Amino acid sequence: MDSIEQSLNQIKKEIGKNVTLVAVSKTKPPELILRAYNAGQKIFGENKVQELVYKYESLPKDIEWHMIGHLQSNKVKYIAPFISLIHSVDSFKLLKTINSEAIKSNRTINCLLQLRIAEEKTKFGWELEELEVFLNSDDFFQLKNVRIAGIMGMATFTDDNKQIKTEFRNLVRIFNQLKVNRSINNSYFSVISMGMSDDYQIAIKEGATMVRIGSHIFGKRVYS
Ligand SMILES: *Cc1c(COP(=O)(O)O)cnc(C)c1O
Repeated sequence: MDSIEQSLNQIKKEIGKNVTLVAVSKTKPPELILRAYNAGQKIFGENKVQELVYKYESLPKDIEWHMIGHLQSNKVKYIAPFISLIHSVDSFKLLKTINSEAIKSNRTINCLLQLRIAEEKTKFGWELEELEVFLNSDDFFQLKNVRIAGIMGMATFTDDNKQIKTEFRNLVRIFNQLKVNRSINNSYFSVISMGMSDDYQIAIKEGATMVRIGSHIFGKRVYS
């Protein structure tokens, strides 16, 4: 297997300068993250609040931490002081909490709206219709300390590349539709976060601006 450094270089070459790489370091120890960091990677993604806080505290402060996993409202306060981008905003309740914790930290927090594009019923996220209603509501208008920077989605876990492509294409279509929504500030709405180790090539072809890659960099995850 390639080393972390080799994998990172290969992926960076492959995705090019216009796509942002989030190195997904969940379950991996700080020593391995530091190796990627020393090889030039500054953006890391985690999916558990406790692990994220621990790693934020143990590692260099110029790392940009992204929250990519399902986030419970009662845990937002732990990451609000430092988080760079939350990919997984899937409800009004969560966004409202992020806004109030951002105020307490005297920050504006960048957020992506997570869309449900996969077939599986279990995946979190908005449907386009409910999102459009929400974005045009006064509830949304009140939230001044969150910045909607784009959208995120996960394709169905399948070998069927055609299906994955269709789902990513759908996400891009949704992005374009939201972009013309008057309640979204267009100058910040630019991120399409889609694509993981097994499907990032397809995602990039379809227009991803940000990919979230874990096992392809750090090796398979072992859950104990
Ligand atoms: C774990 C995870 C990834 C990375 O998965 P890999 O297959 O290891 O690249 C990307 N996005 C989310 C939301 C994840 O939870």
